[in-house]
Amino acid sequence: MTTENPPGSAHPADVDLLETFVAFPAPLALLDASGRTERVNAMFLQRFGADGVNAGRLGALIHDQRDGWHKLTLSLREGADAEVRARAVRASGHILLIIEQAGGVEQHSELDALRARIGELERLVATDHLTGAWNRAHLDRVIESERARSLANRQPLSLILFDADHFKKINDDYGHAVGDSVLRELVQLARKRIRASDLLFRWGGEEFVVLVSSAGYRGAERVAETLREAVAAHAFEGAGRVTVSLGVAEHDGDEDAQSWFRRMDEALYEAKRSGRNRVVVSRQGNSDAWAAAGGAGALHLAWQEGYECGDATIDGEHRELFRLANILIDAALPERIAPGAVRSALGGLLAHVQRHFADEEAILERLHYAQLPQHRQAHAGLLRRAQYMAEQLEAGKASLGAIVEFLAQDVVARHLMVVDRAFFPMFRQPAGPGDAGFAQSQAIGAGRPLA
Ligand code: GH3
Ligand code: MG
Ligand code: MG
Repeated sequence: MTTENPPGSAHPADVDLLETFVAFPAPLALLDASGRTERVNAMFLQRFGADGVNAGRLGALIHDQRDGWHKLTLSLREGADAEVRARAVRASGHILLIIEQAGGVEQHSELDALRARIGELERLVATDHLTGAWNRAHLDRVIESERARSLANRQPLSLILFDADHFKKINDDYGHAVGDSVLRELVQLARKRIRASDLLFRWGGEEFVVLVSSAGYRGAERVAETLREAVAAHAFEGAGRVTVSLGVAEHDGDEDAQSWFRRMDEALYEAKRSGRNRVVVSRQGNSDAWAAAGGAGALHLAWQEGYECGDATIDGEHRELFRLANILIDAALPERIAPGAVRSALGGLLAHVQRHFADEEAILERLHYAQLPQHRQAHAGLLRRAQYMAEQLEAGKASLGAIVEFLAQDVVARHLMVVDRAFFPMFRQPAGPGDAGFAQSQAIGAGRPLA
């Protein structure tokens, strides 16, 4: 547990939020979903000390779905037990524990404001403050659910580990501040090269991990190679040329995260050993097994309940989108490929997509959706990509792989799972306690995994 800021300069909004939390006029503790304490504020420390929550009997309170105040036993700073009244405020993946103060914290209007900002606080706790990438603790939190979802949906999942080459020398030659700025620039560069649905984590000092969704080791290798080239071509402020070495590993079988990470680590080690500024790939993974086992079925897009926003028109049209996409995938299978059938399937899909975008935009406009302009832009971008696919097809250049990649990556992974998700809350009932996973709430920002 920590109450200090991680090293480096925090974003001003984060500092402000952290101050609100720290100075809040009642004892507060921020717990993760399993009840582990992540932060406590100043009043909490004064009364209960840093271990107060750990010693407390939280079980019933954090599992009790009813709102309101409950009795709770915590250890005081001096060691004795004290019975207090507390309430648990749930916000996505976290629980904010508020301990009642004499006078009643319920009167504090700040409580509502604070609740509204817990989401931001979660982001703060999950962020590396030097670079703005997600931190390692956050990777530990999301990796299991990502792994499970990959297996359940038969969507491959890959990791890229990259490490700055001879970074110690950069610090030695130009100073630690320049080293820090190189790390920040590395993250900015990487952000531009990964897809919106991928996640970037700071793994440790000058090592970063990218979690690449819906990609086997071949797709992840392409991402890694693009990243390597972009870094090698960039002039870093105060340091000039910097290179990175990268290791790639796709999740394989039902191996645990430890074994998967070990293969990723070994690939990076090999990239270092064989000369640096290169990508080494562990060439094994579920994408091969699933392709061999499945034929068309394996390539089909599978509808998930989580894709439903609650608006009947939008959900119906999204389902239809999947149906038409699967017709296109079938038509483009190598053993059956018939240019006429592919063309007509793509035509049907495009017509539907156009109609669906118009309907969705009209619905969002009626609801005064604040991000409608950006959403329109995303739609326009997708239509441009679709148009490009159609042209490739005319030129005889659209492979099944390109079609599936377009549908799975652009339409589903990037648009449906990330961009559309931003408007889902408008159609939802007010979120009940414990509703909506943390990762899902982040899907709205810069491309996050789904809960
Ligand atoms: P290699 O090519 O084998 O990776 O060599 P290297 O020098 O990059 O690797 P090594 O692991 O020996 O050194 C990493 C250095 O990164 C040492 C450490 O001082 C520096 N470092 C770690 N975190 C930070 C940071 O936050 N800021 C700065 N400026 N330097 C850091
Ligand atoms: Mg290094
Ligand atoms: Mg290193």
